[in-house]
Amino acid sequence: MQSILFMNAMIFDGTGREPFAGEILVTGNRIAVVSEGKERIPHEGATIINCNGATLMPGLVESHAHLSWPSSVGRIFEGLMLPPEEHLLVTAHNARVTLEAGFTSAYSAGSLGTRFEIALKKEIEGGYLPGPRLISSSLEQGPKDVLGVPPAESNKHGRGVEAMRAYVAEMAELGVDSIKLLLSGDDAFASGASQNLTYTEEEVAAAASEAHVRGLWLSGHAQSAESVKIGLRHGFRILYHCSHADEETLDLLEAKKDGIFIAPAVGLRYSRLYEAESFGITREVAEKMGVYAEVERMQKLYPEMRKRGVRVLPGGDYGFPYNPVGRNARDLELFVKLFGYTPIETLVAATKQGGELMGLEVGLIQAGWLADVLLVDGDPTKDVQILQHRERLLKIMKNGLFIS
Ligand SMILES: [Zn+2]
Repeated sequence: MQSILFMNAMIFDGTGREPFAGEILVTGNRIAVVSEGKERIPHEGATIINCNGATLMPGLVESHAHLSWPSSVGRIFEGLMLPPEEHLLVTAHNARVTLEAGFTSAYSAGSLGTRFEIALKKEIEGGYLPGPRLISSSLEQGPKDVLGVPPAESNKHGRGVEAMRAYVAEMAELGVDSIKLLLSGDDAFASGASQNLTYTEEEVAAAASEAHVRGLWLSGHAQSAESVKIGLRHGFRILYHCSHADEETLDLLEAKKDGIFIAPAVGLRYSRLYEAESFGITREVAEKMGVYAEVERMQKLYPEMRKRGVRVLPGGDYGFPYNPVGRNARDLELFVKLFGYTPIETLVAATKQGGELMGLEVGLIQAGWLADVLLVDGDPTKDVQILQHRERLLKIMKNGLFIS
């Protein structure tokens, strides 16, 4: 089996420890040995990579991926929908862009094609197309006539308990890993919509119990406090945004912190505030969409979740024209800048905790773990912004193979 030795590295292992000098030996697709200090790893026959003091760290995890949202860095599409053939190809392109940005894993927060991610995941896992490890999702889905549901292929299910069960069963048959439901509206869809529940609790309960029986995970767009509580009551794996969470919701999150992941998806909000003017989102429009107020609330809320030990993960709705796929690492900067996370805490969220979200042995530099590794020019534990620069990612390894 092929072995690769990284020597002269500073290792950030994902646990939250400061980087330490050491070596790692990768054998096949696993990290075989991690050494520290002056200890040398026997490496007969191994290919040697001299890291020259660069930082070795786990690959990043994107917790709110939309590979089928078409825009990526250097390739902007105005809308979200394309003809299906183009759309699938663009989705595959975005998988490569995500991986090349250092994200070796991605949890999908919804697709725009029913089978896009199922097909794509097969190609990636077969080694035929480059892309991150993927938790594939069903469509970004809400009930009929709820504003904000993308137009094509929407309304895949009717209302009521039986319809929800049947929908989840159908998705399970197709082979998705995760069901995405819009549990609340969003102020960006219509003013005040963030406070609307889109499903009845009975409908959510039916979908959730069907998903649990079939071994599927659930992710939820949840803005209002009540929608977060519903997601918590019905065993959702990850809840997004949560920007109206109140004190009681925070208490519930804290009580369930070992069973839930939260992702604010702040990247999209930030870009709508400061970078979307040329796409028609002026200050006035952003205000109408409630973005200012939302970011302000998030700046109070997320430091509080951090204090309470809730697992809050980077992942920012990349794929919109003003927030393209490939800029995903910018979310880490926003955790530091807006939420008071230290760079190390942010990196732990994007690696170790991201690995926990994926349910895979990724996110740590640890013997036995899958070899998803970045070699970074500089020290991201001092400045997470360097991860946004492609040229600073000297090597990207996924599953023991270099992608660059
Ligand atoms: Zn999203």
